[in-house]
Amino acid sequence: MGICALGKHLLTAIHQSFPGRTGEATTRKRKKELSPEEFRKRKKIDDDIPQPEERAAFFTLLEDEHIQSFLARDSCLKISDKYLLAMVLTYFRRANLRTEEYRTYFFPSLFLANQFEEEELFRWEIYPWALGLMWMIEKEQLHHLRNQMLIRMGFKAWVDRETCDLIMAQDPDHCAWKRERKVHHSWAIRQCRRDDVDFTIKGPWITPAPCFLCNTILLPCQEE
Ligand SMILES: [Zn+2]
Repeated sequence: MGICALGKHLLTAIHQSFPGRTGEATTRKRKKELSPEEFRKRKKIDDDIPQPEERAAFFTLLEDEHIQSFLARDSCLKISDKYLLAMVLTYFRRANLRTEEYRTYFFPSLFLANQFEEEELFRWEIYPWALGLMWMIEKEQLHHLRNQMLIRMGFKAWVDRETCDLIMAQDPDHCAWKRERKVHHSWAIRQCRRDDVDFTIKGPWITPAPCFLCNTILLPCQEE
């Protein structure tokens, strides 16, 4: 028996003795185990679902006093509902941000998420919260940071609902994921019947009038 024939003989013997231990058999098994749908979902999780330390850093950011005030003022959840916040966290991961960069890019990322998902211009309310008193002449700063985010995540700004749901399912009890927008502020209601089209930018300095539809201003982590 030549060397090649001997090698082939040995390989066959190994296959027969340890069918689950060889690379070929393991690959076949993996392919059998994961359906295309499961494979797609696994890839999505690997790509977009933040690691525990990333989620923890994001939740710590939401406890920042200024951001807490912003979230509380957006009591109707028009610009910071749970899906928009989950998009921001997805952006952070896609852009491979360091956790110490999260604060810098929070408002620009939220602005971008609103640009992608919302038809109304409520996102303009983000300017004064991000830029302070001089927001009118410094708007380009926010646009610049938003553009940087877009570049860093390869212009992949679209986040589907399934990804948001998967992210929220990692920490289902966190108050950020309880920010469910009411149907009367959603596009399920025709624009002519909605009451939120009369919009002015208020910033941190002007307390908004209570919304008679929601009837109360919720604190950011207040249970509904
Ligand atoms: Zn409302």
